[in-house]
Amino acid sequence: MTPSAHDSGTVRPPRPIALRNAPKRLPARWRQRLPAPEAYYRQRIPSLGALRRDGWAQGLCPFHEDHHPSLSVQLDHPRGGWVCFAGCGRGDLIAFHMRLTTLPFVDAVRDLVENAR
Ligand SMILES: [Zn+2]
Repeated sequence: MTPSAHDSGTVRPPRPIALRNAPKRLPARWRQRLPAPEAYYRQRIPSLGALRRDGWAQGLCPFHEDHHPSLSVQLDHPRGGWVCFAGCGRGDLIAFHMRLTTLPFVDAVRDLVENAR
């Protein structure tokens, strides 16, 4: 690659240092490489109960001091939805992993694809 300022006649502003130094990219075909919700959630929520006929299971929520299972996770769908009925929120498996690890989206996806099994 050569500088093209002469050709284009325009000068691009420099990119922010953070973007230049840390080009975080999503892994190829990352959506298909995410861990299965059943394996992922069972590993991280030991209290998770049996899979119900509706595809969901209940366990203790890791995001608050939970004493009876407030967390429902969807094990039979690749998105792996979750909801805490005590008010911690809801989301998909990636959002759960972001919250658990405090990683931003791209890093959480990388971690899921490369490390979480
Ligand atoms: Zn909760």
